[in-house]
Amino acid sequence: MSLFSAVELAPRDPILGLNEAFNADTRPNKVNLGVGVYYDEAGKVPLLKAVAAAEEALVAEHAARTYLPMEGIAAYDAAVQRLLFGQDSPLLDSGRLVTAQSLGGTGALKLGADFLHRQLGKSLVAISDPSWENHRALFEAAGYEVVTYPYYDPATHGLNLDGMLAGIEALPEGSVVLLHACCHNPTGVDLSLADWARVIDVIQRRQHVPFLDIAYQGFGENLQDDAVAVRLFAESGLPLLIASSFSKSFSLYGERVGALTILTGERDETAPVLSQLKRVIRTNYSNPPIHGAKVVARVLNDAHLYALWEDELAGMRVRIKAMRQAMVEQLQAAGVSRDMGFIQRQRGMFSYSGLSADQVARLASEYGIYAVSSGRICVAALNQGNIAAVTTAIAAVLR
Ligand code: PLP
Repeated sequence: MSLFSAVELAPRDPILGLNEAFNADTRPNKVNLGVGVYYDEAGKVPLLKAVAAAEEALVAEHAARTYLPMEGIAAYDAAVQRLLFGQDSPLLDSGRLVTAQSLGGTGALKLGADFLHRQLGKSLVAISDPSWENHRALFEAAGYEVVTYPYYDPATHGLNLDGMLAGIEALPEGSVVLLHACCHNPTGVDLSLADWARVIDVIQRRQHVPFLDIAYQGFGENLQDDAVAVRLFAESGLPLLIASSFSKSFSLYGERVGALTILTGERDETAPVLSQLKRVIRTNYSNPPIHGAKVVARVLNDAHLYALWEDELAGMRVRIKAMRQAMVEQLQAAGVSRDMGFIQRQRGMFSYSGLSADQVARLASEYGIYAVSSGRICVAALNQGNIAAVTTAIAAVLR
């Protein structure tokens, strides 16, 4: 009997399993719609021009790699705040903002979860039904009970607003409520301005703690409009946590660039909050890595690079929207009689296609087209070269 013989094999990650099946498939026209990254028209993960330019300038500096402060690069943290609240926001000088660079959006969520648990004793979090699969696992690992509030309505392929409001209302007072600020993963279904106002109202009344996850800013409408939830929450006067990720918007997945921002209720709270957040950071990984955050800080703090990045981000967004439109048109042309227009109304990288697990399984076995069994497809994995094969196959399994 050796020490590790009692360790059981962890359940397989369903998306990794999907990738393995895709890789093992020898059909030349196979398509992987199960991924969670943006592919360009050539089917490649892009390296943005703004990123390359910032990297070249950084390499030329040959700077020493000393430790960063626990909360990361100051110019990065300030740029994150401008992106979230707008560069003219009075909050920027309010003394109520704390931002710490983090290991991607996942790292920001973990910092926020640990901070709320350790400092405020929070142990109940509500996430949307459905949500990004790591939300539940991450909060459970941080010591929380994870419950869900209704979100997606399969009948309309849209939002179940009444269910969502009632679900949030029914939570014990002071619960942590995790919300996707834009481009909901996995459904692509977002709230309107009026919907947000009602959600904020319930959260305020029930004294819940809002925690916004913004991993796709710029993929919905534009950088400003996609931050509308952040700004409405901030205007409401509620304290707020925000997990930002730049993995997608800068195509910097492996660099792990994100940030946790906390909007405190009063100026005096800010220094203690930062000091305790630093302890969370110190006891987890001490301090964050340099490269990705330096690249992002350089782009966000340079007018020319910022404009270039905004343009490239718009290019990704427009391409995804074009794929949504082509999908709807081609499905209709292929004889699908049900209204698939919801695909065009959904936003961001994903679409809940409405396909059943059986239909998804047929797509893989009969056509070499791989998607998550929930029916989630990554619209950003479509391109002019593969979309006809995908829509033909979907039309066939829907028949
Ligand atoms: N939150 C949501 C909703 C996501 O979809 C993702 C990534 O897929 C993340 C957070 C995590 O982002 P990161 O890769 O930066 O950790």
